[in-house]
Amino acid sequence: MTQYGAIEGGGTKFVPAVADEDNQIIARTKIATGQPEATLRAISAFFDDFALTAVGLGSFGPIDLNEDSPSYGTILNTPKTAWQGYDIVGELHQRLQVPVFATTDVNVACLGEYQFGIAQGVRSCVYFTVGTGIGAGAINQGRLIQGLAHPEMGHMRVLQDPADDFAGLCPYHRNCLEGLAAGPALAARAGRPAGELPADDRCWAIEADYLAQAANTVSLLLAPEVIIFGGGVMNQPQLLPMIRNRFERYNQGYVDRPPLTEYLQGASLHDNQGVLGCLALAQQGMVPSTVLNQ
Ligand code: ADP
Ligand code: ZN
Repeated sequence: MTQYGAIEGGGTKFVPAVADEDNQIIARTKIATGQPEATLRAISAFFDDFALTAVGLGSFGPIDLNEDSPSYGTILNTPKTAWQGYDIVGELHQRLQVPVFATTDVNVACLGEYQFGIAQGVRSCVYFTVGTGIGAGAINQGRLIQGLAHPEMGHMRVLQDPADDFAGLCPYHRNCLEGLAAGPALAARAGRPAGELPADDRCWAIEADYLAQAANTVSLLLAPEVIIFGGGVMNQPQLLPMIRNRFERYNQGYVDRPPLTEYLQGASLHDNQGVLGCLALAQQGMVPSTVLNQ
């Protein structure tokens, strides 16, 4: 029986999982992100009981994904200093002794939706995660977009609502999209956790506005067939309809799009898009330049 490994590597936890060739998950666990050596030891102990063919990794970043770079597979400039400069792909390969195919955490979520979720049947899509941070992965013509580095769409600039005097939390850009609209920004602006804000709180209109600006910009730049929103903050059911409303305010009918209920969608895989995307990565033997099969 062929078995594939998946590792969703987030800023707070790693989720390693094993699936058979039909993508049925046969084992899964959670390990705190903690310190790299201990975390990788725990991951390889978990995989010890299985005979893996390959592993797909979706890692928090930034991570060097340039295949020609001497530091390919290394975590770059992260505030998690213990992980800075850590060759996560090389270390995993050494411990597991199988091919390790890697991309970012948000790229695997995008890939999961493309392969198994709401973006099945299209050739281009963008997936935003709105959680502790904001990030987006993009697939164009069946290829994960990768240039000098992986995209960093969470740090795009948005026009700040004059009624919103919140300074923003991004340590690099202060009031970029992530600085104004990630979960911690919502909490800091409102003075309590985002999950505790009532559905009619003014913060949701502000939030929807920034996410609609981001969707409009991405729509103009990349012209994806669908834009998907996931992550903890999107657990607020009122938010997606508000984003759609604001989106039209910015688009002004200029670019002809599918109906907004189809064009701007919520994530569809019950928080399994990351693990499923890692499995797709492992099975297709993908590096960023690979064209994906669907
Ligand atoms: P992470 O980004 O760390 O992988 P999540 O996607 O779950 O994890 O995002 C966590 C963020 O989402 C936190 O800032 C939290 O406040 C926010 N969040 C979680 N649940 C909700 C909710 N029901 N409503 C609004 N915000 C939420
Ligand atoms: Zn930023």
